[in-house]
Amino acid sequence: VKDEHKGHYSFFDAAMSNRIDRHLNIETGLRQALDNQEFRVVYQPQVDVETGAITAMEALIRWQHPEAGEISPGEFIPVAEQTGLIIPIGDWLLHTACEEMLRWPGAEHLRLAVNLSPLQLNQRDFVQRVGEICGNTGFPLSRLDLEITENLLMRDVDSVVEKLRTLSRLGVTVAIDDFGTGYSSLSYLQRLPIHTLKIDQSFIQAIREGQDEGTLVETIIAMAQGLDLRVVAEGVETERQLNYLRRLKCGYMQGYYFSRPINGRDAVNLLGSWPRE
Ligand code: C2E
Ligand code: CA
Ligand code: CA
Ligand code: CA
Repeated sequence: VKDEHKGHYSFFDAAMSNRIDRHLNIETGLRQALDNQEFRVVYQPQVDVETGAITAMEALIRWQHPEAGEISPGEFIPVAEQTGLIIPIGDWLLHTACEEMLRWPGAEHLRLAVNLSPLQLNQRDFVQRVGEICGNTGFPLSRLDLEITENLLMRDVDSVVEKLRTLSRLGVTVAIDDFGTGYSSLSYLQRLPIHTLKIDQSFIQAIREGQDEGTLVETIIAMAQGLDLRVVAEGVETERQLNYLRRLKCGYMQGYYFSRPINGRDAVNLLGSWPRE
């Protein structure tokens, strides 16, 4: 019995120290990644349900680690947040995406959506940073969508409200990402200058043949219409999901059905050939 226990504990220790090693490696790697130009931006289109037009691109970060290969943002963003590195990384992403998108032919009216970490919004000079990056690149604030998650709203709401109001007056729009999964508090929807709800992909993927779990999606869309908010459904992978969202008069869609996240060059090609038959 003792030996079994010993075995169990040493296995546990090994798994844990692997995890710590990986964490430390990610942390060390992240410190050099910006200088070594290991980050890239990929883009995923948002499509107007009614017209089929691409109206926006969401910028998503990618990290190619020299030894470990591609590490997903789901794994390294939390480390970047714990170390504060998300601030320079977030600035880099916004700057790069603005610069790149301005060079795209025929993309003059396209909006750019970027994801924000709570840490970025908590920066005292957050509004100035965004203003500076858009000013320096020439990207109009009125084409910028900021995607934030609900849980961050729980901390220091007043100062977040203040910053988002300021940006809002400058034409920036604000979306609640992963809507339905966070610590939803309907009162925030009223207090915050929110323009868009992005329905979490888990609710969209629940729309399948012979199941009627789509009712939550229906409820969210009806609520958004009542509050005069735009709705983006994310994680749309099938025609069935598309048709369902069309019936509900959901505003916008995003997902593999239309395109995976792609690099800038492919995005230009996609825009040039859209809509496909
Ligand atoms: P998110 O903002 O909810 O982004 C959507 C994620 O779903 C992306 O994963 C995207 O590639 C994936 N996705 C899009 N369409 C589909 C689909 O049809 N089916 C499925 N199964 N997945 C789909 P990704 O790029 O791995 O990003 C994961 C998360 O990491 C993002 O979730 C976001 O929270 C965070 N993230 C990514 N880039 C950034 C960034 O630049 N800054 C910050 N702060 N967070 C980022
Ligand atoms: Ca997002
Ligand atoms: Ca999301
Ligand atoms: Ca997410």
